[in-house]
Amino acid sequence: MKKMKLKHQSGKPLEINIKGQIIGRGHFTMIAGPCTIENYDDLYAVAAELKKMGINFFRGGAYKMRTSPYNFQGLGKKGLEYMKKVSDEIGLISVSEVISVEDVEMMKNYVGILQVGTRNMSNYRLLLKLGKVKNPIILKRGFSNTIEEWLLAAEHIIEAGNPNVILCERGIRTYETYTRYTLDISAIPAVKKLSNLPIIVDPSHSSGRREMIKSLSWAAIAAGADGLLIETHFSPDNTICDSKQTIDLNILKEIISGKDTLLNLWNKK
Ligand code: PEP
Ligand code: MN
Repeated sequence: MKKMKLKHQSGKPLEINIKGQIIGRGHFTMIAGPCTIENYDDLYAVAAELKKMGINFFRGGAYKMRTSPYNFQGLGKKGLEYMKKVSDEIGLISVSEVISVEDVEMMKNYVGILQVGTRNMSNYRLLLKLGKVKNPIILKRGFSNTIEEWLLAAEHIIEAGNPNVILCERGIRTYETYTRYTLDISAIPAVKKLSNLPIIVDPSHSSGRREMIKSLSWAAIAAGADGLLIETHFSPDNTICDSKQTIDLNILKEIISGKDTLLNLWNKK
């Protein structure tokens, strides 16, 4: 049977304009910030440093999908209030994960870009709901999903009415245990061939290892990624979630200092 052409497989590559910042093929988008929102002061301090470095997109989780029920689950709505206040004051576009259908209506007013985490890529009711909002959506690849399943998940959002989907490769499960997951670099050129959607890479959750973030970030840009999503904090060892993979501001500066050389290969801004 001939495969159906998906909506995001025809037309020009998608460019998403959010508050004057363009996400798409000809551009490069850096998103950084803590794994989770812990308190207002720390969030503000990280955000202020990122802004100084020229970063415009700020991540932070208020609702966390933790593997263990005994781990910190996030500050919830209070965290979103902090996120909105900090982002508005400093002038950043916020990114935060939405984990359930019931939260979408509330969250769309607090957050610039809504993220779907790896564990929810196949939550089609959630995707349908996200098709009804105006916020761009970062759709992470399910860690056990094929590229085709991921592209179809994006189609659920688009078909429901929201064309502004950004795909995020965040590592898949393989037999390797040294890293948390295995970053599928080949997903980048594959997505660029198979879809018009922007593709960004999360080296943090894929490796789970701070010392690898610079290499994987540069590898992702060299492979043509349209952006990076990196867990960053001024004091990673003192964070309560994902500290082993969170980089400090100096490493982020190093990543940024090398990125233009690689971006030139792709004529990206
Ligand atoms: C995250 O980005 O905060 C996150 C939990 O990522 P993932 O869904 O890829 O594990
Ligand atoms: Mn995390």
